Amino acid sequence: MLTTAQRSVPLLDLRCQFKQIRDEVMSAVGRVCESQQLILGETVREFERAAAQYCSAEYAVGCASGSDALTLALMAYDVGPGDEVLTIPFTFFATAGSIAQLGAKPVFVDVEPDTFNINMEQAVRKIESSNRIRAVIPVHLYGGCADMDPLWAAARAKGIPVIEDAAQSIGAEYRGKAVGSAGDVACFSFYPTKNLGAFGDAGLVTTNNREVAEKLAALRVHGSRRRYFHDWVGINSRLDAIQAAVLRVKLDYLDEWTHARQSHAEDYARLFAERELPVKAMSPAPYQTRHVYNQYVIVCDRRDQLREWLTERQVGTEIYYPLSLHLQSCFRYLGYKEGDFPVSEDLTRRVLALPVYPELESDDLAYVSDCIGLFYR
Ligand SMILES: *Cc1c(COP(=O)(O)O)cnc(C)c1O
Repeated sequence: MLTTAQRSVPLLDLRCQFKQIRDEVMSAVGRVCESQQLILGETVREFERAAAQYCSAEYAVGCASGSDALTLALMAYDVGPGDEVLTIPFTFFATAGSIAQLGAKPVFVDVEPDTFNINMEQAVRKIESSNRIRAVIPVHLYGGCADMDPLWAAARAKGIPVIEDAAQSIGAEYRGKAVGSAGDVACFSFYPTKNLGAFGDAGLVTTNNREVAEKLAALRVHGSRRRYFHDWVGINSRLDAIQAAVLRVKLDYLDEWTHARQSHAEDYARLFAERELPVKAMSPAPYQTRHVYNQYVIVCDRRDQLREWLTERQVGTEIYYPLSLHLQSCFRYLGYKEGDFPVSEDLTRRVLALPVYPELESDDLAYVSDCIGLFYR
């Protein structure tokens, strides 16, 4: 059955979410205003405690963004010039940008077509065969985690840290364990469009290693543990109290929002199957025991035409990501070329993210599916 009535289904509408939590957020922000304790301080500590507990991690260190979280994590392990760091080219720029910014060299392996995550065989082979790789950054793309056990084993054997890019996946679980609870360090982003979003930029690093946590807390304030005495050369990447106050309120809603996202993902899969749409629905791997659907991404043919078609019908979409990092002009010096990572390159031409935010209604999902069906008919 086709929904003929025209609707508008944006990719994301944060105003719907704000309406639900308006009073709580306004009073939490009001308290920060009254206190004029604007940076770090008790509000930030309170959010860090709650976030650590949510991720089942011992320590959480707030910072200014997800990009900074990655930079701080690499700095905590002294990654710098001459070092290589293994990651994937099919991710947001910051994953590799943080490596390059510290003077280290991003080294890529391809991703898997079904989970969009790091190809474990290639990753393990690379770690075992190289003595220059100083760290590895798997990315838990779209809200589903990478297959961590083989990676931890290979990294442990070499004595190198695994730095999880969990910017899209707070709340996700790997074999029943929360992302950020089991590895060396995990990096989170609270950019407003993420599944847990601040009212501006914010980020966080979790770890179970006390020494690493203390170093991270120092690195975010220019490497000082005691004010004006510097043990390391750090950066300025403090977390604002207003952001922490907003995040603390939102954290209590995250599970409810995640359930809604999961239910939308199930609905999409069912609607696509009923309509026999020639698009690949997302389907979590068995080890992705809790997928949080930060994005809902289909893999399809004639992607760009489909996107245009959907735009004309007021359906918001996005392409995460249209150019693999090994082909970015700023990384030309790395010497990669087209064809080096065929799965990543293919995905850049075929992925399309559909609306999946919690407040969507079932008619919205049916409308999106109908529009896709009309396109392929
Ligand atoms: C959003 C994101 C980041 C960076 O986070 P910011 O808070 O925007 O700096 C890093 N990695 C991935 C995979 C992301 O999605």
